[in-house]
Amino acid sequence: MARTPVVFGNWKLHKTVNDALELVTALKNQLGVVRDVEVGVAPVFTALSSVAKRLEDSHLRLAGQNCHWEESGAWTGEVAPSMLVDVGCSHVILGHSERRHYFGETDDGVARKARAALDAGLGVILCVGETESERDAGQTTARVDSQLAGSLASVEESDLERLVVAYEPVWAIGTGRTATPGQAQEVHAHIRATLRGRFGAAADDLRIQYGGSVKPGNAEELMSQADIDGALVGGASLEADDFVAIVKAARPG
Ligand code: PGA
Repeated sequence: MARTPVVFGNWKLHKTVNDALELVTALKNQLGVVRDVEVGVAPVFTALSSVAKRLEDSHLRLAGQNCHWEESGAWTGEVAPSMLVDVGCSHVILGHSERRHYFGETDDGVARKARAALDAGLGVILCVGETESERDAGQTTARVDSQLAGSLASVEESDLERLVVAYEPVWAIGTGRTATPGQAQEVHAHIRATLRGRFGAAADDLRIQYGGSVKPGNAEELMSQADIDGALVGGASLEADDFVAIVKAARPG
């Protein structure tokens, strides 16, 4: 079965509500005709509700950049999966390397979040990827395998259609250094093989995004690789023209 490409913009800590509305309005206008790529944006929490209203009559998807594993309680500063659903999110990004590095997120915590998010009805974009020193030490696939095993510990085969894996080599995020299409494809194929080993043929339908300095100039070659099914875009998702060009580069055929 052909996999529908999936491209999300991870806006990280950028954009006020007004700036977010301006960007998403431009995306809506320019991407209205693109139906063969699943496209979404992940604004900051404070802009989600306004952006969701602006996207009401659009097929663009909305994602949170994180969520908690509990539904409610004494968890100052956290947001529950069902609260993301409540404001109109269809997805949540989990396990981003910035969360793992700066906020101490562990595979165990990401696994609990993934389970809670799936149970709340969200699609999960799970990020994995090695650091530069891990790559230099020849540990790329071992690192990615342990993140997959840990972060997907409570995911079942029936969850796979709502799961997207984002391979994001840490050394390529926000650095302007991109994995070559060949380097990325090698890891993507490995990820699919690992998940096939665990989930069987369902892994053949799983979408695996590449992330890390994706730009209009490198998107097409990356997207043309057999196991690269889209992109998780940081910096280049903050400008409508760049993001639209990346989405168009991901179109099948
Ligand atoms: P970048 O970020 O495109 O700015 O490298 C990607 C990401 O962190 O998801």
